[in-house]
Formats: sequence, structure tokens, C-alpha cells
Amino acid sequence: MYDLLVIGAGPGGYVAAIRAAQLGMKVACVEKRKTLGGTCLNAGCIPSKTLLSSTESYWKLSTHGEKQGIICKDLRVDFQQMMARKEEVVLSLAQGISGLFQKNRIDWIQGSASFLTPTSVQVGTQQIEARSILLATGSEAVPLPFLPFDEEKVLSSTGVLALSSIPKKLLIIGAGVIAVELGSVYLRLGSEVECVEFFDRVCPASDRALSKELEKILTAQGMLFQFSYKVTEGKVGSDVTLTLENKEGKKTITADKVLVAIGRRPHIEGLNLSSIGIALDPKGKVPVNNSFQTILPHIFAIGDLIDGPMLAHKASEEGVAVAELLAGLRPTIDYFAIPNVVYTFPELASVGLTEEEAKEKGLSYKSATFPLKANSRARSTGEDVGFIKMIAHSTTRQLLGIHILSPHASELIAEATLAIQTRQTVAALLQTCHAHPTLSEALKECALALFGTSLHS
Ligand code: FAD
Repeated sequence: MYDLLVIGAGPGGYVAAIRAAQLGMKVACVEKRKTLGGTCLNAGCIPSKTLLSSTESYWKLSTHGEKQGIICKDLRVDFQQMMARKEEVVLSLAQGISGLFQKNRIDWIQGSASFLTPTSVQVGTQQIEARSILLATGSEAVPLPFLPFDEEKVLSSTGVLALSSIPKKLLIIGAGVIAVELGSVYLRLGSEVECVEFFDRVCPASDRALSKELEKILTAQGMLFQFSYKVTEGKVGSDVTLTLENKEGKKTITADKVLVAIGRRPHIEGLNLSSIGIALDPKGKVPVNNSFQTILPHIFAIGDLIDGPMLAHKASEEGVAVAELLAGLRPTIDYFAIPNVVYTFPELASVGLTEEEAKEKGLSYKSATFPLKANSRARSTGEDVGFIKMIAHSTTRQLLGIHILSPHASELIAEATLAIQTRQTVAALLQTCHAHPTLSEALKECALALFGTSLHS
């Protein structure tokens, strides 16, 4: 009998397993993939960022190399090598997790788990019993009913990360984070990339001003967009033809490959949850209370399976919280301070409220922006695109939201997250000395801009 059985070894499940083992529990983790790490490591965060990094190096040298005095005459892409490196990175990180499992004496059971009773699951011919069970089975890409994934012509994000050649034209349904990240990869490799989006802008959940600026920058890079269109039909032959509709009428677009990136839904197939009385909520998520308990108090759920942003670091925070709750500790997660990053060039990173959300809540706020063009480090690297936007309460000056569209925004957001999480006022950023020349100085300048006293713009 295990103290904790974790189902799913993504960033939620494997982190929960390690933390529970550290706290003295006897832990097993069932994973149906051949490797640990879940969607994030095998088909999400890591392979996408590996390809984004390789293609960004290539794209920067090919478009800006000469200006920097670097002549790259025979610069070209070895796509097979690029994909092979991505596989190596994934494999080595997956081996790292299995090493951590061994170190922490966690039993890794490979196979698909299905509930037999509320305290036991079947994996192949094995029956495993546990006092507590953690559901961490993550999510899967949502298909369009008339355009099922074949991973040949109609691709999910998993398929597009494993192509054997560069498509001539890649049509993407959606212009959210997965669409613009994976679209950037193939755009930089020479594909024609066109996104069809139901809403009127890229990354519709982001602060409007930054999302509009990112759209402008991506358009200048060559990405095409069709906004406010609904895809209503798809025909797959030697090419794929989509029918798009808006108020004015219909039109068709054809491409050799289509990536469907319209969202993800909880992955519960085969778990047999209904046999133990766990039903999904109207949003299709597993309902849990503040302690991540399902309707059965000894069965917990975290990560993409439950409400909230579908992000790896959110899943990990919840995994640690469940392990600590089981050990009698009192963990807390501050959902207001969960950063969100879009890994395009430039990157778009945010934490806290967008200006639209601040307005909707009726808050009295001030907002200010600072352009990267006025930052000396950005000028020296030649990457002076984007801006920072800060939103603070107009009387208390408490920071409400920080949004960064800039190179390395994914790193800059850490300071912003700490400020938001610790409920700092703008003064905290103003009183902090930032090294020169760094992009981080733009954060302080943006804080100054809130009072109209920015030194460099
Ligand atoms: P998952 O990582 O999905 O892991 C669940 C695991 O459970 C899977 O390995 C699955 O095989 C296993 N499983 C399912 N059912 C069973 C069963 N019955 N028995 C045994 N095992 C089972 N998030 C970020 O924060 N940053 C990013 O940059 C980022 N990039 C992304 C890029 C792409 C292309 C995609 C698709 C996602 C990206 N995400 C990113 C989202 C991130 O991957 C997810 O939020 C995260 O993986 C969720 O973690 P999880 O532990 O809940 O589930």
C-alpha cells in the first residue's frame, strides 16, 4: 500500500511525487508515456523552446548578421540536425527526472492507470493500492469536429513539433500562444505561415496594447493573419482547404499542412473516473476544493485537469501544495502572481492584471509605458523592439500588473512577479538599484514613468 499514488508524470505529477517522497511518503507514479516529464517535456514547453531557440539564432544571423558585421555567406538550416538536437534535449531531461525518481525512491510504473475502486487502480495486469491518489493526467489538444488530427496534413502541436520536413505553407487555426510560437518556428525556417483567428488579435487574453504591438511585429516578420474569422469547413486531399466565414461572407485558403491550435482539454480518457463518482464540471474540468480534493477527499487533482491557466509552473506549484497538505503543512499558492509568457521574438511576459481587467474591476489605476528603444542595452544588442507597461493603484500605488514585450521578457518577468507577489508598491522598483546596462533598467524606468519622471524617455 502506497501513501501516495500519482497518475501522470508531467510537471504537476512528477514534482508532487518528489516533494511527497522528500516529506517521507511511500510514493508511486504511473505514466503511460515511455518517458517521464509529461506534455511539458515531451511535446510542449521544452521541444517548442528548443526549436524556438535554434530558429531564432538562424533568423537573427540571416536577417541582422551583416549589420552587426557578421558575414554569413553559406548560412543554412540542417532541419534533421535541429530536430535531432531537440530529441536529445528532451531525452536527457527525461533521464534526469528518472534519476530523481531513483534518488527519492519513487516507484515509476509504466502504463495507463484505470480506477478499479476509489483506493485502487489497474495498470496492465498490476493492481496498485494507495491511501491517497493524485490525478495529474494533464490535457490534450482539442480537434475540430470536421477536421480530425491525422498528424500528416492536419496537425496538433505534437505533430508540428515532429515534422520530417519544413512545410511550404503552414496554416494555423488559432493565434494564441501555441499558434504564434510554433508559427514563429516555421516562419523563420522559410514556411509561409498564416493564422486564422476567431478573435480580433493575437494572444487575446494578453493586455490589448501589448498584443496589438506583438501582432504588428509578427506581421513585419512575415506572419500573415486573418482575424475575426471562423473556420467552418475543412477538406483534406493532397493539400488542405479551409473555409473561413465572417459577417461579410465566406472564403477559402489552401495549404500543405494545417496546425489546429484552438485550445486544450483535460485528459481523462481511460481513467474510469465515472466508476468512482467523479464527474467533470460544465467547463470540462475536474472540480476540486481549495485543498485540491475532488468529491472523494483522498483523491486530489491538479494542473491542466483543473481550473486555472494551463501552465507547467502552475501545475508544479499545485503538485508541491498537495504533497505538503498531505504532510500536514499549510502551503499557499498566489494565483494572482502566476506569470505567463509567450516565447515569440520579442517575448511577451505578464503578471497580474491587464489594463482591461483593471477597468472591468472598476479599480482606480494609473498606467505607463516605457519603450525598449530608450534602453541602452537593447540598443547595443540591436534588439530594441517592444515596450513595458505597468499598472498601479492610483492612490495606494500598489503594483497591479506588469506586462513586458521585449527580448528576454521571460527572464525579466521574475522581478515583476516577486514585486506583484509580495504586494509591493511602485516604490520597491524605484528604490532597487538595477545594473547598467541591462534590460531590467527598463522596468525601473517604467516605474518612474508612472509618475512622469522617467529619466530616459
Ligand atoms: P501533463 O504535462 O499533460 O502530464 C500529464 C501526463 O499524464 C502525461 O504524460 C500523460 O501521458 C499522463 N497520463 C494521462 N492519462 C494517464 C493515465 N490514465 N495513466 C497514466 N498516465 C497518464 N506551459 C508553460 O508553462 N510554458 C510553456 O512554455 C509551455 N509551452 C507549451 C507548448 C506546447 C506546444 C504545449 C502543448 C503546451 C505548453 N505548455 C507550456 C503547457 C504545459 O505543457 C502544460 O500546462 C503542463 O504540461 C501541464 O502539466 P500537467 O502535469 O498538468 O500535465
